[in-house]
Amino acid sequence: CGIVGYTGPKTATPILIDGLKRLEYRGYDSAGICLADKSLNVIRTVGKVRTLEDRVKELGLPTEHCGIAHTRWATHGAPSEANAHPHTDDKKQFAVVHNGIIDNYACLRKKLEAQGHRFSSDTDSEVIPQLIAEFYQGDFCKAVTQALSKVSGTYGLAITSIYDPGVIVVARYGSPIVIGFGNGCNLVASDITALVPYTREVSYLNDGEMAILSSDKVEMCNLDNVPIEKRVATIDWDV
Ligand code: GLU
Repeated sequence: CGIVGYTGPKTATPILIDGLKRLEYRGYDSAGICLADKSLNVIRTVGKVRTLEDRVKELGLPTEHCGIAHTRWATHGAPSEANAHPHTDDKKQFAVVHNGIIDNYACLRKKLEAQGHRFSSDTDSEVIPQLIAEFYQGDFCKAVTQALSKVSGTYGLAITSIYDPGVIVVARYGSPIVIGFGNGCNLVASDITALVPYTREVSYLNDGEMAILSSDKVEMCNLDNVPIEKRVATIDWDV
């Protein structure tokens, strides 16, 4: 339902939690966050963002400078901690937040299980990190495009990897994604409301477009990895 991501010089956690709160009006049943560096720190709770925030504080505020976060409106799999996003592959190399529905997930899951992948949720979304792990051979973005070539359905995605600390790969097909160009940082969200405190310079992805965010640059390409140029819009209204 709601997606937020941040990469930059600041501690990501407060920015991600604040972003999730700004997306609460859309409705959701659970929430989660992944702070990403050389390992992935995933924290998820059923219920309000406030509950997630309390859990994060209890565990000691993570200090990573890059992360992704999600509020889930369950479509496949009951609202539960195990079904909340972010989802990772079974070796915890890639973390994914997903809005939308993967129509062919049952078939993909069967194949991935036969290849030895162990699943830990009932969601359609979990096939995405597992597929990326299956394809990964040293190029994060390429593994994402290969995974997405197998998927049919709708998605807004933000993805992190232990192999590329500080990088968030983003993709859109049928579910909104907006990139925010900050001052020494870059952000992503499913809805501009989450970005306005940090930037007024934004770019909306179209279906079939991807972005690779790091703190100092944003690269855009299509699902065949061909670079594209996009217009940056300035928001001059209050949200
Ligand atoms: N289909 C996914 C799930 O049920 C994503 C739902 C959403 O967009 O929040 O987990």
